[in-house]
Amino acid sequence: MLHFNLNRCQHLKKITQKCLSSIQVKMDKHIQRILLRTFALAELRKSWHSTHSLAGDKNIVLMGPPGAGKTTIGRIIGQKLDCCVIDVDDDILEKTWNMSVSEKLQDVGNEQFLEEEGKAVLNFSVSGSVISLTGSNPMHDATMWHLKKNGIIVYLDVPLIDIINRLKSMKIDRIVGQNSGTSVKELLQVRRQYYKKWYDTRVFCESKASPEEVADEVLNAVKRYQDVDSETFISTRHTWPKDCEQKVSTKFFSEAVIEGLASDGGLFVPEKELPKLSCGEWKRLVGATYIERAQVLLERCIHPADIPAARLGEMIETAYGENFACSKIAPVRHLSGNQFILELFHGPTGSFKDLSLQLMPHLFAHCIPPSCNYMILVATSGDTGSAVLHGFSGLNNSDKQRIAVATFFPENGVSDFQKAQIIGSQKENGQAIGVKSDFDFCQTAVKRIFKDSDFTGFLTVEYGTTLSSANSINWGRLLPQVIYHASAYLDLVSQGFISFGSPVDVCIPTGNFGNILAAVYAKMMGIPIRKFICASNQNHVLTDFIKTGHYDLRERQLAQTFSPAIDILKSSNLERHLHLMANGDGQLMTKLFNQLEYQHHFQIEKMLVEKLQQDFVADWCSEEDCLAAINSTHNTSGYILDPHTAVAKVVADRIQDKTCPVIVSSTAHYSKFAPAIMQALKIKEMNQTSLGQLYLLSSYNALPPPHGALLKRTKQLEKVEYQVCDADVNVLKSHVETLIQNQFMKAF
Ligand SMILES: *Cc1c(COP(=O)(O)O)cnc(C)c1O
Repeated sequence: MLHFNLNRCQHLKKITQKCLSSIQVKMDKHIQRILLRTFALAELRKSWHSTHSLAGDKNIVLMGPPGAGKTTIGRIIGQKLDCCVIDVDDDILEKTWNMSVSEKLQDVGNEQFLEEEGKAVLNFSVSGSVISLTGSNPMHDATMWHLKKNGIIVYLDVPLIDIINRLKSMKIDRIVGQNSGTSVKELLQVRRQYYKKWYDTRVFCESKASPEEVADEVLNAVKRYQDVDSETFISTRHTWPKDCEQKVSTKFFSEAVIEGLASDGGLFVPEKELPKLSCGEWKRLVGATYIERAQVLLERCIHPADIPAARLGEMIETAYGENFACSKIAPVRHLSGNQFILELFHGPTGSFKDLSLQLMPHLFAHCIPPSCNYMILVATSGDTGSAVLHGFSGLNNSDKQRIAVATFFPENGVSDFQKAQIIGSQKENGQAIGVKSDFDFCQTAVKRIFKDSDFTGFLTVEYGTTLSSANSINWGRLLPQVIYHASAYLDLVSQGFISFGSPVDVCIPTGNFGNILAAVYAKMMGIPIRKFICASNQNHVLTDFIKTGHYDLRERQLAQTFSPAIDILKSSNLERHLHLMANGDGQLMTKLFNQLEYQHHFQIEKMLVEKLQQDFVADWCSEEDCLAAINSTHNTSGYILDPHTAVAKVVADRIQDKTCPVIVSSTAHYSKFAPAIMQALKIKEMNQTSLGQLYLLSSYNALPPPHGALLKRTKQLEKVEYQVCDADVNVLKSHVETLIQNQFMKAF
């Protein structure tokens, strides 16, 4: 990925270019003189290095609502950096107009005011300074483009309530753009959209933070923004070179997302821990929406050089704006006693995979080089296929012309309903292909296609197309999952079940270890999770491992269960957690996972087992217990658990000590597993069609309500066409090639 390194280097070169350019002020002569004098003095005093190391010749531009403290904070920063401070109100507007801002506003009215304000700012350029904007500057596009060219726009995101209180005490009762009839609060909410459009970096101010504290946060934010080579990723199998001169092969976020798997077979993990939010920052998120929580958290974890914060914010809005049946996206529901259900199934395909796959394609599309086509290959036996197809169909039109999906599923190895769902999720840039074999064949065939360098080379040369996988080990899929764990905790706080800081346990039906690992990351960011309860079904290799430290696949056969998404033997994300537990010992990871591959088992040492067991407990649930739990929960509370959720509930009932709340991840909607539910609820009409079963279950008026999107898709099914192919890798390859031709090589 030379492309990206070069990109970063150029970026870096640009910002480190020493150019203390002279100040060009193209303004009214009078003001020009005043400013020039101010600058001249400032220049004399300026210790070049202090600003150079922080923002170079760029300006630090403070943006935010009236009352955010832009002027005060600007002055403090100016002092700290020993650089020039410009307050747009005082130093530009009033001097240009020769009257106060409020006089001008009365003179010309709102709209004219914005224009004249814009004109005044456009007429002036500085560098290496701190600029405090007016609250309304961001509503003038040309102004903001002008400032952005040579500045870092810092958004002072102050809590609304603080702003309102400050405005009250400043006796400001009317602000620019406010018409009679709108309240200050409403106006500030509208303004927010403008701020969100322009910022390069945000300071998420705690309630009642002092100007000094905010100024320090601004400096930190600018420092992070400028430090484009920080926040890198390494492979879990990475060993640190003994020779310090040797270059360490680290990756940026974008590269980790594109490549998915590291070249040494390991998984990408952040080189440093994930950022921790302060208690005050978390508390501000208690009253926030899911989208706002996601924006604040992901912005911290994705460097703006990979995805600019404002762009990231748009992606998050697209992903979680309208695609979920519940406006809370991932609501928490009190079940009984100290148990809460985190409902992760309100997305378009009814499983928790939607939570990451509605966002990940947007991250992916942003990260890939603009001139390449990408074909995502997926082998699926369950929830992934439809979630991937649906997620990638949410891209904008130009991205859909260069990113497409091919999903292979076992023609006779999935339930009617699953098949219906997979083929029903086909969209213009995605196809589902039934393979006349089992899931293992599909998976092995897809892996062989990836490894076939003749074929992949041919696709690159002939069609400018790269193959990619979007599977559950991709960092771009793991990261969005952190949000719902944090969000669930915040919801318990906002609903008054706990106060911020008190512990909770989480209990998660676990397969590839992605969901539960995301909870570990949420804890790393500051959510006080006490125990991670890992729940398995009959395929309980993880339970045994957590209890003994021995991961042993010998003599283990995969059993088919009512909870197929956790029928798993090799739990891939476990490697990331072990890497964390072993303090980043890549050598150990290489050893362990090579042993797993060649000897089919490994044992970790006692110290490491104990460390793992400090946070993790595990147990497994039999098929009978699973059905019994669905039945008894329905009887006692009218709530239907899907079989995966039931597995977790059984384990939580058995091993959670009830001294704190436990949040049980509900990873799928029960509609997806109607036959198991009918059996559990002892409903006799077993020989119905999937649709018939769904309708019958819907008529029970149980909670949660039936999944509308699933019902709709199943109903449309008879009309949907899909392709079926023979169990032969070459046949699969030719399907891939045809698909590439159809998707990317259309004559325009
Ligand atoms: C994928 C899936 C799981 C397993 O999640 P991991 O992150 O792989 O542990 C559990 N339940 C359902 C319904 C799933 O689709």
